[in-house]
Amino acid sequence: MTVHHGELVAGVPAEVAPGVVRLIAPNPGRMTGPGTNTYLVGSDRLALIDPGPDDDVHLARIVDLFGDRIGWILATHTHIDHSPLSRRLHDMTGAPVIGFGPPPPSRVVGPTGIDPHDADFAPHRRMGDGDRLDLGDVQLEAVWTPGHASNHLCVELTGTGLLFSGDHVMSGSTVVIAPPDGDMAVYLESLEKVKARGPRRIAPGHGAMIEDPAGVLDEYLRHRIERERQVEQAVRQAGSAGVTAAQVVEVLYQDVPEDLHPVARYSVWAHLRKLHDEGRLIAADREDPDAPWSARPPGDPRRRQA
Ligand SMILES: [Zn+2]
Repeated sequence: MTVHHGELVAGVPAEVAPGVVRLIAPNPGRMTGPGTNTYLVGSDRLALIDPGPDDDVHLARIVDLFGDRIGWILATHTHIDHSPLSRRLHDMTGAPVIGFGPPPPSRVVGPTGIDPHDADFAPHRRMGDGDRLDLGDVQLEAVWTPGHASNHLCVELTGTGLLFSGDHVMSGSTVVIAPPDGDMAVYLESLEKVKARGPRRIAPGHGAMIEDPAGVLDEYLRHRIERERQVEQAVRQAGSAGVTAAQVVEVLYQDVPEDLHPVARYSVWAHLRKLHDEGRLIAADREDPDAPWSARPPGDPRRRQA
């Protein structure tokens, strides 16, 4: 088998760390970057991390290269670009499917609503925070990191400082926090949780290896805090009539292509919900991004200090 290094090309295996091979699925896009990263970990029996979308070409490539060695199939979370191929891979290899749990019930909201979850995901085995998977000569440890998805796991290759981050941290594209399953306050806590572990390298679900995890995690936190400040300011400027999530997007995302605005609306909604929960904003309906949001006056006792 020819192994190439550092090339973000679908279908071409690349050894990104000792005993870790990345195979990119052929699903490039605005949200997926070069495509979903599938990782194969181990030396004899392999754990496959993130099977990817239900794609014939990706399935054939995985089975052709690694089929008889796959011992475990692990999904970081149940979004449609990460877990669906687990079913056909299980059928072909017999390997158990492992994940935090099934997807949350669908709660699609609004005219641009999309359910990003793989409704049929049903793991044979569940992994929770701190649970380990023994691959023989190496182990994987689960780190529960809700926020992008409530059932999101990062996975650490024990003793190496290498963290598989799924969509919790990406390289080259933005992590979307889409309520109601996505939660901005919880996401920020999970970023702090990963930062506190001090990973040495991050193998993300999309894009290239991250060689400076501390710097990237600090930048993620800084960016979200700055965006939250901008969202609160936009609501405050709108006055007592209030403003919708889509209107905040029009103000704050002028430099972002318009086809990304529906996605940005979700991230703004996630910020609005967090600010509401902290008592800083008033929501006509917290479950509806298009109902008006307005600022709570600074002297109001219901306004908690963030
Ligand atoms: Zn995702």
